[in-house]
This record gives sequence, structure tokens and C-alpha cells, in this order.
Amino acid sequence: MLLVFLGPPGSGKGTQSKRLLEHFRLPHLSTGELLRQAIQANTPLGRLAVQYMNQGKLVPDPLVLSLVGEVLERPEYAPGCLFDGFPRTLQQARSLDEFLGGRGTPLDVVVELRANEDELIARMLRRAAVERRADDTPQTIKRRMEVYNQQTHPLVEYYHTRGLLETIDALGSTEDVFERIRSRIEARAHERVNQTM
Ligand code: AMP
Repeated sequence: MLLVFLGPPGSGKGTQSKRLLEHFRLPHLSTGELLRQAIQANTPLGRLAVQYMNQGKLVPDPLVLSLVGEVLERPEYAPGCLFDGFPRTLQQARSLDEFLGGRGTPLDVVVELRANEDELIARMLRRAAVERRADDTPQTIKRRMEVYNQQTHPLVEYYHTRGLLETIDALGSTEDVFERIRSRIEARAHERVNQTM
């Protein structure tokens, strides 16, 4: 199964993707995590990416695409994966479609977590106090929300027109949100099995 997880900063993508990975036993592909690892390891990619990330900006498409391309070549990603925080631009979405189309394994479902923006900002400020993430200052949080609205939100329409989108209310307990996501994904998987029979 190939699954994309979309959602504004603070929508609980990280928490929910961990639950989904455990439940569906899928490999995880989080570009945010890969980039943070590159920064920690002080690789050339990390040194470039950190300049964008600390300003709440997106890392340029060519850097992200080559990173994802490299990871997808690994054998453990052959059966599928959960894309978390990727794609984030239309160019990334088109490149991913091209890549997966070339392999004959198109995306199965795109889950969009949706919630009120003020609630999300409040959540991120709470997380910043706990996790001390360098990109969680009030300024970068605001910037990341603007970047999401401008550059990533158009993907909702992109995937909706392709019949792949499932929009989920991101507010509520972790358990409730997880149940909503799980039931929609399983319903999609059943539909797919029925279509192929
Ligand atoms: P995340 O952990 O997904 O919230 O990502 C943290 C930061 O990493 C983002 O604010 C971006 O600066 C960068 N980033 C992560 N994924 C991407 C992507 N697909 N394209 C561009 N930048 C990304």
C-alpha cells in the first residue's frame, strides 16, 4: 500500500503516522525526519537544508526529490510506504506520480488531516515548549502555516480530482482521529480488492 499523509503543521501527522505504521506495518518515509537526520549528521544536504528549515521555508524541490528517490530505491520500500510530509508542492506530487507510474505502483490513498488554524497554532506552541524543536518558534510556526496554505494546500485539489483524497477531521483525541483514519483506509483497501475481483 502506498499512502500519502497531508496536513498543516500541528495537525498531528507525526503522531498519527506512528500509529498507522504500527497498525499497517508499512515503512515510513518522512522527509522532515530525513532532513533532520541529515542536519544532525552534518552532511552537505543537511547544511543546505537547515537554512531553509530554520526560517520555516520549504527545502527546494530538487534536493527533496533526490533524497526521496534514493530512499525509494531501497528494497524495504518496494512493498509500499507511508509518505509523511511529502509531497509538499505540486512539482513534488507530479514527480512522485511519474516515479510511481513508471514502477507500475500508483498511490492508493491520500489522507488529509484538516483542522482550525488557531487550534493548530496553539498545539504547536505547546509542542515547542516540550520538544524544543529549532523550527517551532512563533515566527516560523506562522511562516510554516503560510507556506502550507500557499504551496501544499493545492495538493488537496490535485488528489481530489484523481479520486484519491480522504479528508479527516484532525480534532479530537489521538484515538478517535486514528479510528477515523484507519476505517477510511480499510474501506479504500476493500473497494480496491472488490474492483479487482
Ligand atoms: P516536518 O517534520 O514534516 O514538519 O518538516 C519540517 C521542515 O522540513 C519543513 O518545515 C520544511 O522546511 C522541511 N521539509 C520537510 N519535508 C519537506 C518537503 N517534502 N519539501 C520541502 N521541505 C520539506
